[in-house]
Amino acid sequence: MPDSDMWGHDHDDMDECVRALEAVHAFLHNELLEADADVIRHHLHACERCMENFEIESTITEMIQRGNSPLQAPSTLAARISTLSVTRRRQQG
Ligand SMILES: [Zn+2]
Repeated sequence: MPDSDMWGHDHDDMDECVRALEAVHAFLHNELLEADADVIRHHLHACERCMENFEIESTITEMIQRGNSPLQAPSTLAARISTLSVTRRRQQG
């Protein structure tokens, strides 16, 4: 069974996850209103899948702020990042 099947039975949650992931960049840059940031924070703590994604985004942002390219990330992290982008493409299609 392909991994993508695990997304198939979870549509309600997934909508929330998509919104959370869309807002993660703004969240990391403190561009959200406090109320919106609270929603994201709450979802990340409740949703293991998004927390994992959030940690990846945080790591990337941190690296960029330090002037390092994400391309220099350990291969495991790079692999997880490419998995993330595939997932997001699937959600939008
Ligand atoms: Zn989620």
